[in-house]
Amino acid sequence: MGLDLVLLGPPGSGKGTQAARLPAQYHIPAIATGDILRAQVDAGTPLGQQVRSYLNRGELVPDQLVVDIIRHRLNEPDTEAGFILDGFPRTVTQAQALDAMLAELHRPLDAVLYLQVDRQALQDRLGQRHRQDDRPEIVDHRIDVFLEQTAPLIGYYGDQGKLRLINGADPPDRVAAAIDEVIRSLLAPSGGPQARRTGS
Ligand code: ADP
Repeated sequence: MGLDLVLLGPPGSGKGTQAARLPAQYHIPAIATGDILRAQVDAGTPLGQQVRSYLNRGELVPDQLVVDIIRHRLNEPDTEAGFILDGFPRTVTQAQALDAMLAELHRPLDAVLYLQVDRQALQDRLGQRHRQDDRPEIVDHRIDVFLEQTAPLIGYYGDQGKLRLINGADPPDRVAAAIDEVIRSLLAPSGGPQARRTGS
């Protein structure tokens, strides 16, 4: 069965950096809703025109739009062996829609990796980037939006027993190692011969 993962974390926590590394290593696609939305804006599609002002203001785009994007994307054959979602879900409504979609496909999420970074570090990191929505006041707003609308997912996935905490303040290679360790534990056959021997 596949390796179905979500990368959760505030803006600037390093989700994108980590997600970029995982496809080559685990042969599963990384799906970043932010990248998909920005591509639509850049291409000037009707969807792009619809979402542009949300992105520039640091607001979340309406749930239904991103849920539809993800539903279509998860139907692509390259997700058969698994996927890494980066930037989705971002609200409890999105998380519930994802759970419903995956239940229909008989493939529940394996784990949600939460990259934890404090606010000051986020502001410092994002202050050095040059994306349209990385102006200080927009950055501040995006962090508030995360705390209000996305942070509830920590409890949501915690209750499901799926949350894995990662210290996102560590340097990228340390974060990568922590993520690899979680993935290894997911891929390891639990209670196999090796595990039984260790106990004796
Ligand atoms: P970051 O994690 O640094 O905020 P992203 O690329 O993930 O960057 O997101 C950029 C913007 O794209 C968000 O501020 C929001 O406007 C929009 N966006 C991305 N993913 C979602 C989502 N799942 N739901 C609603 N809006 C989203």
